[in-house]
Amino acid sequence: MTSSARPLLNRRLAEFGTTIFAEMSALALRTGSINLGQGFPDTDGPEEIREAAVRALRDGRGNQYPPGPGVPELRTAIAAHQERRYGLSYDPDTEVLVTAGATEAIAATLLALVEPGDEVVALEPYYDSYAACIAMAGGKRVPVTLRPHEGSFRLDLDELRAAVTDRTRLLLINTPHNPTGTVLTREELTAIAELAVERDLLVVTDEVYEHLVFDDAEHLPLATLPGMRERTVSIGSAGKTFSFTGWKVGWVTAAPGLVTAVRSAKQFLTYVSSGPFQYAVAEALALPDTYFTAFREDMRAKRDLLATGLADAGFEVFKPAGTYFVTTDIRPLGETDGFAFCRALPERAGVVAIPNAVFYDHRDAGAPFVRFAFCKQTSVLEEAVKRLKALAG
Ligand SMILES: *Cc1c(COP(=O)(O)O)cnc(C)c1O
Repeated sequence: MTSSARPLLNRRLAEFGTTIFAEMSALALRTGSINLGQGFPDTDGPEEIREAAVRALRDGRGNQYPPGPGVPELRTAIAAHQERRYGLSYDPDTEVLVTAGATEAIAATLLALVEPGDEVVALEPYYDSYAACIAMAGGKRVPVTLRPHEGSFRLDLDELRAAVTDRTRLLLINTPHNPTGTVLTREELTAIAELAVERDLLVVTDEVYEHLVFDDAEHLPLATLPGMRERTVSIGSAGKTFSFTGWKVGWVTAAPGLVTAVRSAKQFLTYVSSGPFQYAVAEALALPDTYFTAFREDMRAKRDLLATGLADAGFEVFKPAGTYFVTTDIRPLGETDGFAFCRALPERAGVVAIPNAVFYDHRDAGAPFVRFAFCKQTSVLEEAVKRLKALAG
């Protein structure tokens, strides 16, 4: 029996309604619009990696519970990837943990490390699961807002410093950053690292877009900076890098004590997941550099196509240095409210986008910004650009 006076959903989660993605995807379907809302590719990743998954399944590898930390082949491949790319060496047995996507890595990390009442400093706008996971852990989120500055969203280092208090437990960093497309620079990351060392903070970095950086931008893992390896939980995922977002294979790399803590929470969430896919992702991580270069080039061309089209349609465009999202400002179109704009856009132009305000605590700070995904086929983006021209009048 439930008391009618008491809501079913607990207080920690009450503020999180259904995600905007459900509403916008339904709207796309109903209006026959092109869905540039949710960020998933409309083309699958490499054929040989799909075949590797089929092979694992047929050979009976991973069809039963895989080992709790992940299959050894994948943990070894993750460690080799971190070494090859960044010169970071991790012991596959004690410093690598495979998770059900980055989503579970984030959840398990926060549930493991955050004590009720602890403050978690996160960059705003933030990926939507951060707020919910901090809340489930009983933590208090403290947003530090990225603000437009000369064509991109930047971190105000003084604001970051001011956000840290005696109750701060950890910094939750995301670079390359969804939804703004910002890639934090070496200077910004160095300042974050110095602050973390000075205030003895843990750092969690969500690096799921590590391979999607464009032009001169460079992804620099925080764990490579002085004093950071022992205090940083780095989170990666196969979903975005290999265009298999449905496989849900992610991972954590960190010092043994941190990995053990995260595993303590993870074992009671999914215990294990994605058995056969783990073997396939091990092969994917070992793909030659030509795969990663071609993937990045393809996405860069798509970014340019959509960014140019949006600018021609009258948006102010923040050209992303990474990820597969473009954030725009709708004020040059005479609009100020991203929610209203996105709700009307399917009827006006047959395209669906996401109002960035959903990623903010300070909704006003995010009001005029709207996000479009460009991880779609070129023909789809061309059609979207053609439709959006209608806005230019
Ligand atoms: C997509 C995404 C995730 C989730 O990754 P999964 O591996 O699909 O769980 C986490 N963080 C950011 C910033 C993302 O964009």
